[in-house]
Amino acid sequence: MTDSKQRFIQSNYNIFAEIQQLEGHVDRNFLLIVDKEPKYVLKLTTDLTSKPFLKAQHHIIEHLGNNDRFAFPQIQTGSDGKSIYLFTDDDGAQYLARILKYIPGKFLAESLKSNDLLYAFGQFLATMDKSLADIHSLEIMTRHYEWDLQHFQEYQDYLEHISNPAKRKLIQYFLLLFKENILPIRHHFRKSIIHNDANDWNVISDEKNILGIIDFGDLVYSYTINEAVIGAAYIALDSDDPLTRISSLLQGYHDQFPIVDMELENFYYLLATRLCMSVCQTAYMKKKRPDDKYLSIHEQPVWALLDKWISISPDLAANTFRKACGLKAGPIKSEDSFIEHRKRHISATLSLSYEKPILMERGAFQYMFDRDGKTYLDCVNNIMHVGHCHPRVVEAGQRQMAILNTNTRYLYEALNQYAEKLLNKFPVSLSKVFFVNSGSSASDLAIRLARNYTDKYDLIVLDHGYHGNTTLGIEISPYKFKGRGGKGPAPYIHTASLPGTSLSAEHSEEELYAEIDNFFEHPVAGFIGEPIVGCGGQVMLSEAYITTIYEKVRSKGGVCIADEVQTGFGRVGSNFWAYELYDVVPDIVVLGKPMGNGHPIGAVVTTDEIASAFENGMEFFSSFGGNPVSCQIGKSVLEVIEEEALQEKAFITGNYLMDGFRDIQKEQKMIAEVRGAGLFIGIELVKISNPGLPATEEAKKIINLMKQEGILLSTDGPDNNVIKIKPPMCFNMHNADRVLSEFRKTAFCSCLKTMRYWATRSCPK
Ligand code: PMP
Repeated sequence: MTDSKQRFIQSNYNIFAEIQQLEGHVDRNFLLIVDKEPKYVLKLTTDLTSKPFLKAQHHIIEHLGNNDRFAFPQIQTGSDGKSIYLFTDDDGAQYLARILKYIPGKFLAESLKSNDLLYAFGQFLATMDKSLADIHSLEIMTRHYEWDLQHFQEYQDYLEHISNPAKRKLIQYFLLLFKENILPIRHHFRKSIIHNDANDWNVISDEKNILGIIDFGDLVYSYTINEAVIGAAYIALDSDDPLTRISSLLQGYHDQFPIVDMELENFYYLLATRLCMSVCQTAYMKKKRPDDKYLSIHEQPVWALLDKWISISPDLAANTFRKACGLKAGPIKSEDSFIEHRKRHISATLSLSYEKPILMERGAFQYMFDRDGKTYLDCVNNIMHVGHCHPRVVEAGQRQMAILNTNTRYLYEALNQYAEKLLNKFPVSLSKVFFVNSGSSASDLAIRLARNYTDKYDLIVLDHGYHGNTTLGIEISPYKFKGRGGKGPAPYIHTASLPGTSLSAEHSEEELYAEIDNFFEHPVAGFIGEPIVGCGGQVMLSEAYITTIYEKVRSKGGVCIADEVQTGFGRVGSNFWAYELYDVVPDIVVLGKPMGNGHPIGAVVTTDEIASAFENGMEFFSSFGGNPVSCQIGKSVLEVIEEEALQEKAFITGNYLMDGFRDIQKEQKMIAEVRGAGLFIGIELVKISNPGLPATEEAKKIINLMKQEGILLSTDGPDNNVIKIKPPMCFNMHNADRVLSEFRKTAFCSCLKTMRYWATRSCPK
């Protein structure tokens, strides 16, 4: 029995064929097989108003024509000369029906993507675009189409369809980059009609050459370069080296139809745009058509490439593409000229990291990029808590900065909202917050509050602790007053020894407590200490030690201050605050660094009683503390931590990393201890020849070698022999594996031979 489609093709085209349904995104497509050979494609379009657009498509296809090199799906006219018919199927549904000639061959998606084939693909796209450059079609030029890359800023609305926050942030990030980089210069792009969907399931190849392209339903008038961008986006999927693949395509394209510099400069952003559009559309369509498998064929590889794309520097990408096209790379400035310039204006007391300092250009989540486009995995910047340039944080600041920024002498909602959200993270006893602009001003204010409340002056501090750069900050920081250039402790500062690391475990608990008891010969206003002593080299305190100090201080009328500047906001994994590791509740908490993800915010959180005692008539005012911009930024940081479950991730990734280092420790005796909590980790190194001595030089060497490999670490502790790991909290398992494998190579490498360690592996490059 013949169906309506068969009757339709017979009566209008005189074609007798077996009909096979094909995959299709928008149109319904059928393969027409004549004498066992696929000959035509029947396309049924549900949107009956699209006839002018279909006619425009045909006009374009006719213009491209068929030539010796490339085939485009030629329009088959019916016996009466028409190319588009109104067709009603057996169920009474109406379509616009057309028949196109079938192009034999394989899809590019099924072909091996050799450099030669990708070069040929570039040439093919360029040939098509060159031919389209001088054709006009009002229908296409006025088309507003959601797959047109130039309209990506409209995709803000699609974010709600992406339920996974870690994925959503990638779209937000690239939306931000689009807004910052593409929109301001959009009128400078060359524009022309483009096919706009050279994805590898639309491109026909015979392994060696590109034969042609199908599906002209995405035609738009857009940036000419978007044609190559879209082709490049799909051939880059599932590749370990997407830049090389894309370079082959661009080389072929450029040889045929020259690309201009600004197109290459922005190729990185436009490619990300296409990837984002693809996954946004998939997420949206999945909600509309949950059973449609065709929707998600590219989904997983696109997410994987987006993940990889954020680890690639846009500058490196631009210069790689320029090189492929034989254009000059962007200027590279030398570190030396920067150091010289810096020295002229900036005091040498501000240090630079690494033997050869890095000229840093950009950041993206856990990655940083130097001026040459080299990618670094950031394992040290605990300030960029939720990741460098997190779009939620950036946008929160940008938006509020454009609306209102003022001080706390006015009423505004952001202060109330942020204060409430932040205080919700504390027990009810800690119910008041003072906002300032740095950890230093927070610790300074904390001491003022303590002294005011207790009417006492002396302070107990933890050895090797650091709390700030103000005059008082230095006075309460043994890390500074005992360190180089330090002037020793002020008479009212009493330093409690640390309970011990592998090198300093000489104090028994009794000795430690006796030392503390002696401090109370003076009137002690309070005790300040970090729950894990960062500058001491990530030294954990025992619960017994910290509860004993708290009890002793309180019993003598003092207050207890926890400095959570480095350890707070979920970093320790099991808890939101590190003091919670020990089951104590401080009277005052000092906050800073991660609070604003790089925006300068600090805060002091305390009890109603201590805050009330401060209300003695003297105003407390901070020009910037608690301003609306800072509050919006701080609030967005808390929201991201929650939405992306960063505390839980820190717990899992941190434990994985510490386990990995403990495995290395079994083979590498240089590692005396692996300690910490969550993503706040210390690896203490000692001399193999004498485990009683710190391996200071080796630690320095290792972090410099790791830096060469693109991994940023730092050292700390009184002997600078502790390698510190405290990365942005989006640091993932894959990043952890990379750190472990590079560390393993480096710790065993022959560079350390000169320091009389065994060398079983060769040095990193
Ligand atoms: N407390 C601790 C524990 C710190 O690590 C720091 C900064 N390293 C501060 C206070 C001072 O913070 P800021 O540099 O923001 O003034």
